[in-house]
Amino acid sequence: MNESAQNLRELSCADDYDPNSMPVSKAREVIARFLAPVTATERLNLRAALGRVLAEDVVSPLNVPANDNSAMDGYAVRFADLKGEGSVALKVAGTSFAGVPFQGALKAGECVRIMTGGVMPNGTDTIVMQEHVKAEQDRVTIGAGHKKGQHLRRAGEDLGTGQVALKRGIVLRPADIGLISSLGIGEVSVYRKLRVAFFSTGDELVSVGSQPKEGQIFDSNRYTLHGMLSRLGCEVLDMGVVRDDPMLLEKAFKDAASAADVVITSGGVSVGEADFVKVLLDKLGEVVFWKIAMKPGRPLAYGKIGHAHFFGLPGNPVSVMVTFYQFVRDALLVLGGANPVEPIPTFTATCSARLKKAPGRTEFQRGILTQDAAGNWSVRVTGEQGSGILRSMSEANCFIILPTDQGNVAPGSLVEVQVLEGIV
Ligand code: AMP
Ligand code: MG
Repeated sequence: MNESAQNLRELSCADDYDPNSMPVSKAREVIARFLAPVTATERLNLRAALGRVLAEDVVSPLNVPANDNSAMDGYAVRFADLKGEGSVALKVAGTSFAGVPFQGALKAGECVRIMTGGVMPNGTDTIVMQEHVKAEQDRVTIGAGHKKGQHLRRAGEDLGTGQVALKRGIVLRPADIGLISSLGIGEVSVYRKLRVAFFSTGDELVSVGSQPKEGQIFDSNRYTLHGMLSRLGCEVLDMGVVRDDPMLLEKAFKDAASAADVVITSGGVSVGEADFVKVLLDKLGEVVFWKIAMKPGRPLAYGKIGHAHFFGLPGNPVSVMVTFYQFVRDALLVLGGANPVEPIPTFTATCSARLKKAPGRTEFQRGILTQDAAGNWSVRVTGEQGSGILRSMSEANCFIILPTDQGNVAPGSLVEVQVLEGIV
């Protein structure tokens, strides 16, 4: 028995382990124990690296900024020339503009006209803002009260040569790509994409493009999964619909596990309904079946099939999305080399209408967050919350997360919300 199989076995003997009422946090904790990130890397042109996981620290080859420079439009002066009291007239010896520095040496009693970003001329150590001088022809008159070194940006102040600019494990966002380019670096090493194979199970399913017979429905889970996985930057392998047939399922599980790092299925994990999936997975790998104490998304299977991680998501379209965001997302990020992986942030908002909720399970209701004229955020549900109503996810811009012990929620109460979109 391999190590992960043994871990799963040991786990099922633990005192607080109840596969029929698995708390959300416990399930997350168990899954996290099994995640070994990919190690293979590839070098990419900077632009192509957007959204990928950085596989090495990016070390700055230069000082940022490269030179001492001005933070203001004004005059670069030698502080020693200024007066403690009264004013002094200095001769303007030249200019230092961004990209066009002042050449030559500055004599006592001279200053240089300088613009923001202009390199500090040799000998100058202080900037006097243009609003604080009286300028006439090639002379400026400067009053008292200035501080030595004011309005300067020092060389290396943002980043020194040899300093780590970005740490291995971050998911590269536009700001990071810009930062790397500001160091003159045009290529980076990233982890290879995680390969994720997925298929839908169910005799009732037909794919878009076919004509459903009576009692048949279109498969939507493969489309939402494709979208969610693509957004996470995974390489996706869509294996279609697989009938509730042990032979076909066995082949699909084997093919998927040999082709991918992660296998995701939807449907067929409800206890009783498709016991042959359980029997099959006992044979092919080490998989645990849980009834998670949550709504929606109760049945969930997790384990290993060979080297591949397996997530058996429920069949209902909303449950697929909720379990994906609450369990699979973080796991895929970890497997893809991201470090640290922060949970999707939550905050509190005022609930504008009563919410129905029974204690005993964590609920992920679909909500719409809106801001009122006074700037306060309030949230309401999207309407009917059935786990088959995908429109509730489509209309939502947040999950309303109601903790296990929570009962009905009175209007005006604060509830925890988790926004579905990020800006960067
Ligand atoms: P199951 O867990 O297989 O019993 O599925 C639960 C419910 O989700 C059933 O009503 C299924 O018809 C529905 N369902 C399962 N898979 C899909 C799918 N890929 N697309 C849309 N609905 C599905
Ligand atoms: Mg089914």
